[in-house]
Amino acid sequence: MTEQGLADDANLRGLLIPYAFGASGERVSPRGAARGHSYQCPECQERLVFRQGEVKVPHFAHYRAPESCRFMSEGWLHIAAKHAMFHAVSEWVEGHGPAPQLLRRCETCRQETWQPLPGKLKTVTMECRLSSGRVADLVLSNGSGPVALVEIYDTHAVDEEKEKDLCGIPWVELSATEALRDPIHWRPRMSSGLKPFRCRCASAVRMKAIDRGCALHVDGCPMRARVWRGKPYANVMDDCSACEHLIDLVHIERGEDDAEAYVLCDGFGKACADNPAALQAAGNVHVKGTG
Ligand code: SF4
Ligand SMILES: [Zn+2]
Ligand SMILES: [Zn+2]
Repeated sequence: MTEQGLADDANLRGLLIPYAFGASGERVSPRGAARGHSYQCPECQERLVFRQGEVKVPHFAHYRAPESCRFMSEGWLHIAAKHAMFHAVSEWVEGHGPAPQLLRRCETCRQETWQPLPGKLKTVTMECRLSSGRVADLVLSNGSGPVALVEIYDTHAVDEEKEKDLCGIPWVELSATEALRDPIHWRPRMSSGLKPFRCRCASAVRMKAIDRGCALHVDGCPMRARVWRGKPYANVMDDCSACEHLIDLVHIERGEDDAEAYVLCDGFGKACADNPAALQAAGNVHVKGTG
């Protein structure tokens, strides 16, 4: 999409000016605005009007063309994305909105998972000057200091020189277009210094599937999906496939007629995953006569 196309698109969706200041200085998003109220542009402080109609998506627009407003400048995409992110994170830390989520890749199984931002984050600051003199797009702090930076990429990616200026604080770089469209789901283009991430597979137990003729079972189901003579088990197709603890079904081919199937299950929790008795129960107990 061309820049003009994106501007039209953003204007239509009411995303170009992601929020306005209300009469008491509070941030108001287009969804929470009402006609007849007075609003102010968070960039140029000029008056905004709220527009809504049968065919119009709710959005803010300048009452008069402003003399100078960065929302109307050449770098509007970067500015609008930054404000959209600032608004989304502020809403969350103030308890009014969902937690932004970061797409992480598990160091062990390489699967991607959305990880909500940690609850210890208390404040977000836009365009904050770091001790190096560099201005970071967004700084996330936990009350005692910055813990992460967000850089919005429009035309200038974080390079080696810029990274030095980020003072060793963990950072992620997000595309301005994506951040503007969806400021809650963050797909980093680049990142550095984040804590290594391991998904649910960290507490997975591998349970061997047993072919009992008419059904495939795993013995030792921690949720006791089924019980036979006091021993828990699960039907792989009927129970595990619909279970929240299922991480994966693994099929291993060893030869033409030699294959094994396993259920990767995190139902034991971390404590039990380290418990040899639980592991043994999960993997090795054969329950006769179940079917
Ligand atoms: S995935 Fe685990 S907890 Fe869920 S039914 Fe299967 S064995 Fe039981
Ligand atoms: Zn303005
Ligand atoms: Zn994993």
